Amino acid sequence: MTTGHTSAPRIGVLAVQGDVVEHLRALEASGADPHPVRRDSELVGIGGLVIPGGESTTIDRLSRIFGLHDPVRDLIASGLPVYGSCAGMIQLADEILDGHQDQQTFGGIDMTVRRNAFGRQVDSFEADLRVEGIVRPEEPFRTVFIRAPWVERLGDDVEVLARVEGHPVAVRQGALLATSFHPEVTGDHRIHDLFVRMVKEHA
Ligand code: GLN
Repeated sequence: MTTGHTSAPRIGVLAVQGDVVEHLRALEASGADPHPVRRDSELVGIGGLVIPGGESTTIDRLSRIFGLHDPVRDLIASGLPVYGSCAGMIQLADEILDGHQDQQTFGGIDMTVRRNAFGRQVDSFEADLRVEGIVRPEEPFRTVFIRAPWVERLGDDVEVLARVEGHPVAVRQGALLATSFHPEVTGDHRIHDLFVRMVKEHA
Protein backbone atom coordinates (compact mmCIF):
# COMPACT_ATOMS: atom_id res chain seq x y z
CA MET A 1 0.00 0.00 0.00
CA THR A 2 1.26 3.42 -0.86
CA THR A 3 0.69 5.94 1.87
CA GLY A 4 1.27 9.11 -0.06
CA HIS A 5 4.49 10.80 1.03
CA THR A 6 6.86 7.94 0.46
CA SER A 7 10.06 8.10 -1.50
CA ALA A 8 9.86 4.35 -2.04
CA PRO A 9 9.23 3.85 -5.76
CA ARG A 10 6.39 1.56 -6.71
CA ILE A 11 7.81 -1.44 -8.56
CA GLY A 12 5.79 -4.27 -10.06
CA VAL A 13 6.90 -7.90 -10.06
CA LEU A 14 5.40 -9.92 -12.91
CA ALA A 15 3.60 -12.62 -10.93
CA VAL A 16 2.39 -15.20 -13.42
CA GLN A 17 5.05 -17.80 -12.50
CA GLY A 18 8.47 -17.99 -10.85
CA ASP A 19 10.17 -16.74 -7.70
CA VAL A 20 7.97 -13.69 -7.21
CA VAL A 21 8.05 -13.61 -3.40
CA GLU A 22 11.86 -13.52 -3.25
CA HIS A 23 11.93 -10.48 -5.55
CA LEU A 24 9.19 -8.72 -3.56
CA ARG A 25 11.31 -9.21 -0.40
CA ALA A 26 14.58 -8.12 -2.02
CA LEU A 27 12.93 -5.01 -3.50
CA GLU A 28 11.49 -4.10 -0.13
CA ALA A 29 14.94 -4.50 1.44
CA SER A 30 16.24 -2.11 -1.23
CA GLY A 31 13.72 0.55 -0.22
CA ALA A 32 11.09 0.04 -2.90
CA ASP A 33 7.33 -0.39 -2.63
CA PRO A 34 6.86 -3.68 -4.53
CA HIS A 35 3.58 -5.10 -5.84
CA PRO A 36 2.80 -8.32 -7.66
CA VAL A 37 1.39 -7.83 -11.17
CA ARG A 38 -1.09 -10.44 -12.46
CA ARG A 39 -3.31 -8.30 -14.68
CA ASP A 40 -2.75 -5.25 -16.84
CA SER A 41 -4.57 -2.89 -14.44
CA GLU A 42 -1.79 -3.60 -11.92
CA LEU A 43 0.77 -2.12 -14.31
CA VAL A 44 -0.77 1.33 -13.81
CA GLY A 45 1.39 3.64 -11.73
CA ILE A 46 4.48 1.46 -11.48
CA GLY A 47 7.85 3.13 -11.91
CA GLY A 48 9.62 -0.12 -12.78
CA LEU A 49 8.99 -3.82 -13.34
CA VAL A 50 10.85 -7.01 -12.40
CA ILE A 51 10.49 -10.20 -14.43
CA PRO A 52 11.49 -13.04 -12.11
CA GLY A 53 13.26 -16.31 -12.73
CA GLY A 54 11.19 -19.40 -13.34
CA GLU A 55 10.38 -20.97 -16.66
CA SER A 56 10.42 -18.54 -19.56
CA THR A 57 8.14 -20.66 -21.76
CA THR A 58 5.52 -20.63 -18.97
CA ILE A 59 5.98 -16.94 -18.23
CA ASP A 60 5.54 -16.25 -21.94
CA ARG A 61 2.45 -18.44 -22.30
CA LEU A 62 0.71 -17.12 -19.18
CA SER A 63 1.58 -13.50 -19.96
CA ARG A 64 -0.17 -13.88 -23.29
CA ILE A 65 -3.19 -15.67 -21.75
CA PHE A 66 -3.53 -12.96 -19.07
CA GLY A 67 -3.26 -10.15 -21.65
CA LEU A 68 0.01 -8.89 -20.18
CA HIS A 69 2.28 -9.47 -23.16
CA ASP A 70 1.39 -6.42 -25.24
CA PRO A 71 1.10 -3.95 -22.32
CA VAL A 72 4.52 -5.03 -20.96
CA ARG A 73 6.06 -4.77 -24.45
CA ASP A 74 4.61 -1.27 -24.81
CA LEU A 75 5.92 -0.19 -21.39
CA ILE A 76 9.40 -1.45 -22.26
CA ALA A 77 9.24 0.45 -25.56
CA SER A 78 8.15 3.59 -23.72
CA GLY A 79 11.27 3.46 -21.54
CA LEU A 80 10.02 1.91 -18.31
CA PRO A 81 12.93 0.51 -16.25
CA VAL A 82 12.69 -3.30 -16.25
CA TYR A 83 14.92 -5.87 -14.59
CA GLY A 84 14.85 -9.52 -15.69
CA SER A 85 16.54 -12.35 -13.79
CA CYS A 86 17.24 -15.69 -15.50
CA ALA A 87 13.92 -16.52 -17.24
CA GLY A 88 13.34 -12.75 -16.98
CA MET A 89 16.58 -12.14 -18.88
CA ILE A 90 15.33 -14.48 -21.61
CA GLN A 91 12.07 -12.54 -21.78
CA LEU A 92 13.96 -9.23 -22.23
CA ALA A 93 16.07 -10.52 -25.12
CA ASP A 94 15.22 -9.43 -28.66
CA GLU A 95 16.25 -12.89 -29.85
CA ILE A 96 16.55 -16.33 -28.19
CA LEU A 97 18.16 -19.65 -29.06
CA ASP A 98 16.86 -23.04 -27.89
CA GLY A 99 13.45 -21.57 -27.14
CA HIS A 100 10.20 -23.42 -27.71
CA GLN A 101 8.92 -23.23 -31.25
CA ASP A 102 6.26 -20.59 -30.57
CA GLN A 103 8.05 -18.88 -27.69
CA GLN A 104 7.83 -15.08 -27.74
CA THR A 105 9.78 -12.61 -25.64
CA PHE A 106 8.89 -9.08 -24.56
CA GLY A 107 12.22 -8.03 -26.03
CA GLY A 108 13.89 -4.68 -25.44
CA ILE A 109 17.55 -5.58 -25.06
CA ASP A 110 19.45 -5.90 -28.34
CA MET A 111 20.94 -9.31 -27.61
CA THR A 112 20.65 -13.01 -28.41
CA VAL A 113 20.34 -15.26 -25.37
CA ARG A 114 20.68 -19.03 -25.30
CA ARG A 115 18.28 -20.81 -22.93
CA ASN A 116 19.69 -23.40 -20.51
CA ALA A 117 23.15 -22.62 -21.86
CA PHE A 118 25.09 -23.56 -18.72
CA GLY A 119 22.55 -26.29 -18.08
CA ARG A 120 23.99 -28.32 -20.90
CA GLN A 121 27.15 -28.69 -18.81
CA VAL A 122 25.95 -28.46 -15.23
CA ASP A 123 22.41 -27.77 -14.07
CA SER A 124 23.19 -25.20 -11.39
CA PHE A 125 26.20 -23.64 -9.73
CA GLU A 126 27.30 -20.71 -7.63
CA ALA A 127 30.13 -18.28 -8.28
CA ASP A 128 31.63 -15.14 -6.75
CA LEU A 129 31.69 -12.50 -9.47
CA ARG A 130 32.75 -8.93 -9.95
CA VAL A 131 29.65 -7.02 -11.05
CA GLU A 132 30.11 -3.51 -12.46
CA GLY A 133 27.60 -0.79 -11.67
CA ILE A 134 26.68 -1.98 -8.18
CA VAL A 135 27.99 -0.33 -5.02
CA ARG A 136 31.38 -1.71 -3.87
CA PRO A 137 31.98 -3.61 -7.15
CA GLU A 138 35.34 -4.76 -5.77
CA GLU A 139 33.42 -6.81 -3.18
CA PRO A 140 32.53 -10.17 -4.86
CA PHE A 141 28.85 -10.79 -5.51
CA ARG A 142 27.67 -14.33 -4.76
CA THR A 143 25.70 -15.52 -7.77
CA VAL A 144 23.38 -18.52 -8.10
CA PHE A 145 22.78 -19.98 -11.57
CA ILE A 146 19.88 -22.40 -12.11
CA ARG A 147 19.51 -23.76 -15.66
CA ALA A 148 20.67 -20.32 -16.64
CA PRO A 149 20.90 -18.60 -20.01
CA TRP A 150 23.97 -16.78 -21.33
CA VAL A 151 24.31 -14.02 -23.88
CA GLU A 152 25.69 -15.03 -27.29
CA ARG A 153 25.32 -11.75 -29.19
CA LEU A 154 25.27 -8.19 -27.94
CA GLY A 155 24.29 -4.97 -29.68
CA ASP A 156 26.60 -1.96 -29.48
CA ASP A 157 24.39 -0.21 -26.91
CA VAL A 158 24.50 -3.09 -24.44
CA GLU A 159 26.92 -2.79 -21.54
CA VAL A 160 28.32 -5.98 -19.94
CA LEU A 161 28.35 -5.82 -16.13
CA ALA A 162 29.60 -9.36 -15.39
CA ARG A 163 30.91 -12.45 -17.19
CA VAL A 164 31.41 -16.15 -16.46
CA GLU A 165 34.12 -17.84 -18.52
CA GLY A 166 33.83 -15.04 -21.05
CA HIS A 167 30.04 -15.25 -21.38
CA PRO A 168 28.11 -12.09 -20.43
CA VAL A 169 25.77 -12.89 -17.52
CA ALA A 170 24.76 -9.37 -16.44
CA VAL A 171 23.95 -6.65 -18.94
CA ARG A 172 22.37 -3.23 -19.12
CA GLN A 173 20.89 -1.27 -22.00
CA GLY A 174 19.57 2.09 -20.87
CA ALA A 175 16.76 1.44 -18.37
CA LEU A 176 16.82 -2.32 -18.96
CA LEU A 177 18.86 -4.62 -16.70
CA ALA A 178 19.21 -8.40 -16.98
CA THR A 179 21.13 -11.10 -15.13
CA SER A 180 21.48 -14.83 -15.88
CA PHE A 181 21.72 -15.45 -12.15
CA HIS A 182 19.35 -15.10 -9.19
CA PRO A 183 20.39 -12.24 -6.85
CA GLU A 184 17.07 -12.50 -4.98
CA VAL A 185 18.07 -15.66 -3.09
CA THR A 186 21.39 -14.69 -1.48
CA GLY A 187 20.57 -11.77 0.83
CA ASP A 188 23.03 -9.50 -1.02
CA HIS A 189 20.72 -6.82 -2.36
CA ARG A 190 23.21 -4.77 -4.41
CA ILE A 191 21.63 -5.73 -7.76
CA HIS A 192 18.16 -4.77 -6.51
CA ASP A 193 19.69 -1.57 -5.06
CA LEU A 194 21.04 -0.77 -8.53
CA PHE A 195 17.63 -1.37 -10.12
CA VAL A 196 15.82 0.75 -7.51
CA ARG A 197 18.37 3.50 -8.24
CA MET A 198 17.64 3.17 -11.98
CA VAL A 199 13.90 3.49 -11.26
CA LYS A 200 14.43 6.60 -9.12
CA GLU A 201 16.67 8.19 -11.76
CA HIS A 202 14.05 7.52 -14.44
CA ALA A 203 11.17 8.93 -12.36
N1 GLN B 1 15.74 -22.46 -17.93
C1 GLN B 1 14.72 -21.53 -17.58
C2 GLN B 1 14.01 -20.97 -18.80
O1 GLN B 1 14.31 -21.24 -19.91
C3 GLN B 1 15.25 -20.40 -16.75
C4 GLN B 1 15.67 -20.90 -15.40
C5 GLN B 1 15.52 -19.90 -14.30
O2 GLN B 1 14.85 -18.89 -14.42
N2 GLN B 1 16.10 -20.24 -13.17
O3 GLN B 1 13.10 -20.24 -18.61
